[in-house]
Amino acid sequence: MAAEATYGVLIGGVEGASAAGETGELLDPATNRPFARVAVGAEEDARRAMETAQRAFESTDWAGGDGAKRAKALLRLAQRLEEQQEEFAALESHNMGKTLREARGDVGFVVRTLEYVAGLADKLEGTTIPVPGSRFNYTVREPLGVTVHIAPWNFPLVLAMRSVAPALAAGNAVVLKPASLTPVTAIRLARLAREAGVPDGILNVVPGPGGRLGEALLRDPRCRSVSFTGSSEVGRRIAALAAERLIPATLELGGKSPVVVLADADLDRAARGIANGIFGNAGQMCWAGSRLIVHDSVRAALLERLKAIAEATRLGPGTEEGVEMGPIVSREQESRVLDYVRLARDDGATIVAGGAKPDDPRLRDGNFVRPTVVADLAPSSRVAREEIFGPVLATFGFRELEEAVALANDTPYGLFASVWTRDLASAHHLARRLDAGMVVLNDPPLTFPQSPFGGFKESGVGAEQGIGTVAAYTRQKSVLANVALPKKKG
Ligand code: NAD
Repeated sequence: MAAEATYGVLIGGVEGASAAGETGELLDPATNRPFARVAVGAEEDARRAMETAQRAFESTDWAGGDGAKRAKALLRLAQRLEEQQEEFAALESHNMGKTLREARGDVGFVVRTLEYVAGLADKLEGTTIPVPGSRFNYTVREPLGVTVHIAPWNFPLVLAMRSVAPALAAGNAVVLKPASLTPVTAIRLARLAREAGVPDGILNVVPGPGGRLGEALLRDPRCRSVSFTGSSEVGRRIAALAAERLIPATLELGGKSPVVVLADADLDRAARGIANGIFGNAGQMCWAGSRLIVHDSVRAALLERLKAIAEATRLGPGTEEGVEMGPIVSREQESRVLDYVRLARDDGATIVAGGAKPDDPRLRDGNFVRPTVVADLAPSSRVAREEIFGPVLATFGFRELEEAVALANDTPYGLFASVWTRDLASAHHLARRLDAGMVVLNDPPLTFPQSPFGGFKESGVGAEQGIGTVAAYTRQKSVLANVALPKKKG
């Protein structure tokens, strides 16, 4: 891969410099050495992207009603992406730090998302409604117009395309702002979309800082909806801006998800699943199972297994085949994670595993944190309550099931929860009682394009994915017609 690769603002099918000509350097998180340059978009780029998208929406046949045609373009895009899976995975891994295995999984998920929404593109049906007299009432679904999508850095391509793909399938014109740290795969994908037959101006990508560029996109009068994935803090700001503009906002936000392990759980399977749910993607997952709530009778046995897994995990550059955990995305994020570990120590917690950077001198320049397991924390401590967004597992014991439910739900978040038990009744009882938008029983955090993905409480508003995902990017129009024949005279 060329170290000096450059990525531009992609508007109307043309990739080029930002209006101000500003560029930024992207660092490889495994070494902190530069690996690419990217255009930094700002207000003028936002204006141009929105104008171009609106023009494409009005002047191309994308929105025009032939869902089957859009489906074909999206299927071609899926196929091309699948053919280039290795290249995209290597790029994602290099930019964000995730392992090649994880990045391949991400690209596969995007391929499957495109296929899934393509299947829904020609099924945007309306209804007919009985009304009194000689009248006829029906509804139609129309695309919204220009939709704005703001993505985070932890699953750069997956989380961008999770809302972009259905918005395209519904016939909208899209403006995507990827996270400043991880814009490269989104730009590459937009290049591919052109080749697949998505008309110029229908998919625009403007990299740049959230505050200036993101807000300019939302303030633009042509913006008809926003899909945001990121922190709850910025989510609040997006909701306020959307309220001012009176446009719909889908918000996918943070989490501090509980993993409840009952006394009868298969501890070997549970330990692997729990480790996967907190050390996967180096813990940088909105739905990381970051709070383990385990029955006292199996607590020591489970912690022993988790410690063994944590200590055996092979850290290294994500791009190196066989590496099991890559670096943290940036130096800043690494410091944030290590600060939380320090806070846990100051609070008198026991560090069961990890809790520091690795000793390996080859990893010295990268942003690495060893998989960390913490015990003996007060449930009220910051480490137990705040989203760390790193490979740090806080663990708690319980005796009675109700105690586990209370501990699990004692959080402002409500994104995800998981349960490990062999008892069917307890599993489904907990699925009902846990205050989270998604519950997984006896598996690590897992989703499919056909499964709804959304959080309760401060974890979000609305959901992405699932059967309603394309219709969510449409508006409903009701048409009422009087079909009475003219009265005969005489
Ligand atoms: P972030 O909130 O800092 O940024 C997300 C995106 O918003 C970025 O593109 C950023 O540039 C942009 N942004 C920032 N300020 C903005 C503003 N004022 N107006 C418009 N856009 C703005 O989040 P992050 O650090 O990139 O990602 C980590 C967070 O994302 C974590 O909290 C994580 O839980 C959350 N997340 C949630 C989900 C989910 O599906 N619920 C998935 C992944 C990540």
